[in-house]
Amino acid sequence: MEQRDVIIIGAGPAGLTAAIYTARANLKPLVFEGYQSGGQLMTTLEVENYPGFKNAITGPDLIAQMRSQAEKFGAEFITADITKVELSANKKIIWQENKKYYAKSVIISTGATANLLGLKNEKRLMGRGVSACATCDGFFFQDKVVCVAGGGDSAMEESIFLTRYASKVYIIHRRDKFRASKIMIQKAADNPKIEFIMDSVIDDILGDEHVTGVRLKNKKTSNISELSVDGVFMAIGHTPQTKLFKEQIEMDKNGYIITCIDKFQQSATSIPGVFACGDVQDPHYKQAITAAGKGCTAALDAEKYLEKN
Ligand code: NAP
Repeated sequence: MEQRDVIIIGAGPAGLTAAIYTARANLKPLVFEGYQSGGQLMTTLEVENYPGFKNAITGPDLIAQMRSQAEKFGAEFITADITKVELSANKKIIWQENKKYYAKSVIISTGATANLLGLKNEKRLMGRGVSACATCDGFFFQDKVVCVAGGGDSAMEESIFLTRYASKVYIIHRRDKFRASKIMIQKAADNPKIEFIMDSVIDDILGDEHVTGVRLKNKKTSNISELSVDGVFMAIGHTPQTKLFKEQIEMDKNGYIITCIDKFQQSATSIPGVFACGDVQDPHYKQAITAAGKGCTAALDAEKYLEKN
């Protein structure tokens, strides 16, 4: 049985920043980075808004730099998923399969994953034209026609990215107003390859072996139409990765971990000694830089908690 001062679960910008800070504080953090380490930045081609990088850096490069910075200060990484946790004020046990770890404090930074529409054919055609990651799969759609579901910044950003490859990109949004920021909408609107289809939802995805089109339903007129596309990209938001912690930690109705319970310990959760940072507790800002900032907060909070206890 291994006992640690700090165990960090998840290694996106939040977890890695927490690892850098706790390692520099000599707390020798153990980081479970999961089999798919790095979080959503691993599928982000260009990060232009992370301070310190005047020229865009790729998401995987940014993660690699953060990870080696944490390692330099003594953070230890295990590339595996946690399978069970038992978290209470007095006892914090983390299982990785049959292996048990005891922690004096735990920092949760498991992030969030992409939502899907829930259509039968969406699952069947996943990887055969359906994707939830434009930056991962865009390359496969050279000179093809694709559509993107969603009306937020992700839909705009992914559509603009897809125009590098695709000959045409439709953005299909269920309302007549986008949720995305003005600047992103303008960028998409200015792109001659992008066309908006408003007030519409994807009712079905068509194709036997590969996607050949989508069936659209206009929400205002109930009109049904078909659109020929070779690819369908989902950009309809994310779900926090909190299944492991259900019924142990307080969460909001969407499954985001509730923090800021204590003004002077902003990453504190409902369990003393358990802290959360990044997209797993932030349904709003969801930026690499805000996640990194929260990671720092969680590390400082954990440090203070360990000093007191
Ligand atoms: P989001 O802002 O929550 O937008 C999700 C979009 O998907 C909404 O337009 C929503 O429609 C639509 N949607 C949700 N469920 C749907 C369903 N079942 N069927 C059809 N449409 C559905 O998510 P996001 O775009 O991933 O952005 C998340 C956060 O990251 C935001 O704060 C955003 O600003 C940020 N972000 C920033 C950048 C950037 O600055 N470069 C890039 C990407 C993301 P409704 O509008 O009708 O609800």
